Amino acid sequence: TEAWRPDDDGRRGAAGPVRVRVPAKVNLHLGVGPLRRDGYHELNTVYHAISIHDELTARRGDTLALTMEGEGAGELALDDSNLVIRAAHALAGYAGVMPHARLHLRKQIPLAGGLAGGSADAAAALVACDALWGTGLSRDELAGIAADLGSDVPFLIHGGTALGTGRGEAVSPVLARPSSWHWVVAIADGGLSTPAAYRELDRLRDAGTAGVPLGSTDALLAALRQRDPRVLAATLGNDLQDAALAMRPALADTLKAGEAAGALAGIVSGSGPTCVFLAADASDAERIAGELDTAGVCRQARTAHGPVAGARIV
Ligand code: ATP
Repeated sequence: TEAWRPDDDGRRGAAGPVRVRVPAKVNLHLGVGPLRRDGYHELNTVYHAISIHDELTARRGDTLALTMEGEGAGELALDDSNLVIRAAHALAGYAGVMPHARLHLRKQIPLAGGLAGGSADAAAALVACDALWGTGLSRDELAGIAADLGSDVPFLIHGGTALGTGRGEAVSPVLARPSSWHWVVAIADGGLSTPAAYRELDRLRDAGTAGVPLGSTDALLAALRQRDPRVLAATLGNDLQDAALAMRPALADTLKAGEAAGALAGIVSGSGPTCVFLAADASDAERIAGELDTAGVCRQARTAHGPVAGARIV
């Protein structure tokens, strides 16, 4: 970690590179309410940050430039449409500084996977550029800029486990012991579009063929306090799951395979297509991941634990 000090030119901020790690998220509960007038759905969700990370390194530069490696390299545009660049511009505009930085993204979170990778990268860019430029914003100020960038971005600054309301941007932390829960993350080939998943849910609801919407988060929050994975398993739920299954029927096989391998429960993460499984403990998670890989029902099965911290300088 670099010290905060003026550099040779007397500029504020970090002289050396700033490296930020940011986690992926899953929704332990994703309750989708009615469509609002602004085009968003009212959400009632419990976010949970897990140990699959992207890493963003920020260095001083004379322009704003982004390079990347890992998941999505060669596929993801690195221009102004990239959430990293949009976040850097948003912070610079707010703080009244020039948006100059050389940014490098090492991506492990799959694209359009339902794990909020793009939002995670935006959160990382805010934290990294704030340190690089010495803008020194409070967590609340960063969260305000984050909310304008995307509904999941404020949570990825906070990390941990948190309740999300509004369109998901209003987060309040839920106390939880770090790394309490063991997950298996089944990454699919290709992504699913989040707006398309919401549209599919609206279509299923209009047709009267959607499942019964989830109720309150009370049972899930009580289960988190009990620390028994079997109790937690019974409370996981996702209103978008039917939509994801309708768009990608093969996910039903992935969910079945995980449960057959001994997972306590499996759900589609966010808008999918990633599926996440709750395991009894770390060794069970390893075993289940191995079985999912062998069964060929996903591109890659990884183990992860949660909750973990949000975007942090490392
Ligand atoms: P969520 O769970 O929040 O719905 P997701 O995990 O399904 O998101 P993301 O990978 O976050 O999907 O991004 C969806 C789209 O956002 C991508 O297909 C891409 O077009 C765009 N995008 C812009 N910047 C990024 C970025 N840095 N990483 C990933 N996607 C980005």
